[in-house]
Amino acid sequence: MADKKVEFADIGCGYGGLLVALSPIFPDKLILGMEIRVKVEGNNLLSKEYVDKRITALRNQNADKKPDESGSYQNISVMRMNAMRYCPNFFEKGQLSKIFFLFPDPHFKKRKHKARIVTSTLLAEYAYVLRPGGIVYCVTDVRDLHEWMVKHLDEHPLFRRRAQEELDRDPCVPCVLQETEEGKKVERNSGDKFIACYERLAEGEKG
Ligand code: SAM
Repeated sequence: MADKKVEFADIGCGYGGLLVALSPIFPDKLILGMEIRVKVEGNNLLSKEYVDKRITALRNQNADKKPDESGSYQNISVMRMNAMRYCPNFFEKGQLSKIFFLFPDPHFKKRKHKARIVTSTLLAEYAYVLRPGGIVYCVTDVRDLHEWMVKHLDEHPLFRRRAQEELDRDPCVPCVLQETEEGKKVERNSGDKFIACYERLAEGEKG
């Protein structure tokens, strides 16, 4: 495990539900949550501290397992950081095989759109840290944001939208739809969920 590099990044990981769900499914992958938020509402813990404590508790409960065994929770961690600023400083070229944007902040007002987690500029940075064949997962309950992310990814020369049959075979898809705290909240309120997954292509691969 010590010689491995992070391969999955959950950008804006919130309370860490995705990290916890993916950990036993991918015991041989290192998965990092990146979270900027200082406070969890109604809680004195920093968001990062909250997720840290959650992971530590799971590790302690499963201390009988080997570090690389499914359910040991040794392969997940969280960092407090502005992922929009520091992604390319943090990962090397082609290091990641999956990036997750789950229920990102919608920034509804037009003048705030540039603060959205998917923009043309940021897509170039995500393409840099993702390897060819790597996947970006975008899930939101906001139709306008979904259409925005699809438009920008469709326009980008290094991304191809994955077909429904590909999503049906992907074990991450049920997790990204159901396992985050925001996803559960949307479910409780019978809200819509929109998903779009894109594969990072090799240079020149898109027609
Ligand atoms: N993905 C989680 C989920 O589905 O439950 C949390 C969704 S929440 C609506 C969006 C999260 O993104 C918030 O926790 C917010 O603090 C975080 N966030 C926003 N901008 C960020 C940035 N630049 N870097 C890291 N995290 C960010």
